[in-house]
Amino acid sequence: MEIIERKHLTINPAKTCQPIGAMYAALGIHACLPHSHGSQGCCAYHRSTLTRHYKEPVMAATSSFTEGASVFGGQANLVQAIDNIFTIYKPDVIAVHTTCLSETIGDDIPQIVRKAQADGKIPDGKYVIHVNTPSYVGTHVTGFAGMTKAMVDYFSTCTGAQLEQINIVPGYVEPSDMAELKRMARLLGVKTVLFPDTSGVLNRPQTGRYEMFPKGGVTLDAMSSTGDSMATIALGPTASGPAARALDSKCNVPCEILELPIGFKATDRFVDTLRKIAGINVPDEVNDERGQLLDIVTDMHQYFYGKKVALAGDPDHLVSLTEFLVSIDMWPIHIVTGTPSKKFKARIRELTQQVPHQVNVACPGDLFLLHQWIKNQPVDLMMGNTYLKYIARDEDIPLVRFGFPILDRIGHSYFPTVGYVGGMRLLEKILDAILERKDRDAPEECFELVM
Ligand code: SF4
Repeated sequence: MEIIERKHLTINPAKTCQPIGAMYAALGIHACLPHSHGSQGCCAYHRSTLTRHYKEPVMAATSSFTEGASVFGGQANLVQAIDNIFTIYKPDVIAVHTTCLSETIGDDIPQIVRKAQADGKIPDGKYVIHVNTPSYVGTHVTGFAGMTKAMVDYFSTCTGAQLEQINIVPGYVEPSDMAELKRMARLLGVKTVLFPDTSGVLNRPQTGRYEMFPKGGVTLDAMSSTGDSMATIALGPTASGPAARALDSKCNVPCEILELPIGFKATDRFVDTLRKIAGINVPDEVNDERGQLLDIVTDMHQYFYGKKVALAGDPDHLVSLTEFLVSIDMWPIHIVTGTPSKKFKARIRELTQQVPHQVNVACPGDLFLLHQWIKNQPVDLMMGNTYLKYIARDEDIPLVRFGFPILDRIGHSYFPTVGYVGGMRLLEKILDAILERKDRDAPEECFELVM
């Protein structure tokens, strides 16, 4: 198939809209209500995408622009909204993000918030924070990065105290991953502040009782203390780098920007960085988990070996996933992200040097291009979000769902893919997909009971 280069047309994007990431990050602050400054349709779309992915009711408010606000600006709507929200829902924080419409009008959110403050609409001890998220630039990943940086800009405080704690900015990962990062730090005996933290918010238990603000999320006290921490570890340069660098500039908290701890090497680097900063030894429990992950690879390597894979998703995820797959002798050959990222292509090239096939990398690229590449050079497995199921069906290729959004399966909120334990789950999913296909296609005489 001839692939015609496209510059001005995206077909089936490998990304979603900026405010979705900002809304997700805001939900990782305890007792925070995200607020979408724009029309109702944007807010409905963002809420429904998050609700469908997490299978939890995602609450957010909107400035509800109609014709008047679209022409004259949304100041009156936002001031009224702030008043209503604090009066009716009583959050501790309102996290405002903009939309294409309010950005095009040019609404100045800090000025509007100052007006609300001057009008007495923001009660004492309550906060309104903001991030600009026009969706004609950026993606859900940059929206997440922007809101996480806003948390630093608004809340991190340097008092001069030297706290024995390390900040972790977890990247655009699942609540289960955030819980796993905290669990690993606990095993290592390191006190951490993780922000944002959607664990306990978007994977909360069913108690039979609705709570507008569940118990999870980073508290404002903890967030404020991040300015006095020993260091910050940012996981994923695209999603977490801006917040970590902002904290370094604002409060002189040194930062280490690492890749997401998916797979052996990236998790090793995460554990080692925690170990060095905190000056501790790695306990046996952590080494044992690594050993279990290694044992799975040793036992099942014959099924991983030489399998060609197509990947689509966020740059931070794809870099670590590529490294993991190559480390177990699988060959990622088509890799597409919809989020522009400066060093992505070079890093993927570096990681895939030993892949004995041509490797196609697009940044930014779309799923239409991925499909064209697959038609020209077929793969054994695809990994990516739910939208890949159309290509998987057309080409009859097994699909492992990974990334955001996953709208047609569950599990991602509860079972991590980061760390050694997360690596085991990823391998289980990959193996299930490969072996199911092997069983399906096996001739009668090769249909094995033991694999
Ligand atoms: S792309 Fe812009 S207009 Fe469309 S839902 Fe996102 S913010 Fe709203």
